[in-house]
Amino acid sequence: MFDTEVETRDESAQRERDETAFSDQLEYLYRNSPFYRDKLTAAGFCDPGAVGGLARLGALPFTTKDEIRATQAEHPPFGAHLAATPEEVRRVYSTSGTTGEPCYIAVTGPDLKAWQRISARSYTAAGISAGQRVVLTYNAGPFVAGAVMDSFALIGATIIPVGSGNTERVIRAFQRLSAEAIACTPSYALYLIDWCQERGIDPASLGVRRFSVAGEPGGGETAIRERIQSAFGATVNEAMGIADVSPSIWGECHEQQGMHWSGRDYVHVELIDPGTGEKIPWTDGAEGELVYTALRREAMPILRLRSRDRVVVNTKPCTCGRKSVRVRCVGRTDDLLIVRGVNLFPTAVRSVVHEFGDRVSGAILIRPRVRGIRQDRPPTVVVELAERVTPDTALATEIETAIRAKLVVSTKVEFVEHGAIPRSEYKIKLVDFSAAG
Ligand SMILES: [Zn+2]
Repeated sequence: MFDTEVETRDESAQRERDETAFSDQLEYLYRNSPFYRDKLTAAGFCDPGAVGGLARLGALPFTTKDEIRATQAEHPPFGAHLAATPEEVRRVYSTSGTTGEPCYIAVTGPDLKAWQRISARSYTAAGISAGQRVVLTYNAGPFVAGAVMDSFALIGATIIPVGSGNTERVIRAFQRLSAEAIACTPSYALYLIDWCQERGIDPASLGVRRFSVAGEPGGGETAIRERIQSAFGATVNEAMGIADVSPSIWGECHEQQGMHWSGRDYVHVELIDPGTGEKIPWTDGAEGELVYTALRREAMPILRLRSRDRVVVNTKPCTCGRKSVRVRCVGRTDDLLIVRGVNLFPTAVRSVVHEFGDRVSGAILIRPRVRGIRQDRPPTVVVELAERVTPDTALATEIETAIRAKLVVSTKVEFVEHGAIPRSEYKIKLVDFSAAG
């Protein structure tokens, strides 16, 4: 464990500390953040006293990415939620802008230190340790993922920064530097298997013991995880972060039964019903969207930020000793399709298709019939076949039946030959609207 005292603390003791931190953060918001002062006042909370404690958090309005985008457009470059002076800002990241204009994320020195600590906890859970030689495939570019390197340094790992798009260098790091671990997206781990096999390299010969995967859902899906683990003879653990909150804030321990909450003392997390916005209790098996509230943030504190990440909760006691709740991410609202009223996450379709692993490659592409979330007709699922496997209607029916049985959605399976679906060295796109009407 990176912060044993914090990570083994009882929930009740944690809650007490969080109450104090929340009340201080609220005072700070009213004093320094015109965005939140106005937003809370408009919602009928004229001062911190009117808000009350964490128990009343559910009465406060959410913050959305669109609001952050709007305030940055209106008050460039950082927006009215900037609560520190521009001179106190030590680093400026930006979001990828996949769902709109990119946003800036400014952090002060103490904000950066908090990110390092939170991420170090999550990556320690996910198997990164002091002295371990670890290949880092995240670029030190404009995105928050680049700050993961700071947390590896804090852990004391022997970092081998390679960045993305340089697979030969990744392979060389394993072969010549005897790297033991790699931090990458699950898509990249899958890409690496194909890359090795196309060149006659046995992935297991590389000696990689640990994959700490993050950046997209997938590393927690049984079929995908097993594919990576068996190809490399390695263990896969997931981590998850969110740009506006922390590069990494959830980390999965050796039990591999979901990612532990790693944001204690710095961030408060809620679970909500994404449809109604109502709070959902943290009970075992509960499913909902994660909502984050900063407890000690200087430059850009966020209050009830909707993550659009959907998770399933695991509250069972864990043998690793961490007392925090665990989650498995099942998908992102941004990728969601609603097919005749039923929610369909593309990652769930991929998971079902992966179960036909001996006959398919595992790569899929969903082609909805119309643009937008709502679909009246079954979307096409393009399934890539394994090498030397020929298309066959019986297999298509088998996959369609499995998808309908598990996900309650009708689809139309179409096959393409091995290698036809583009692979990604970063995050994979599973939905293709280009042919949609
Ligand atoms: Zn654990």
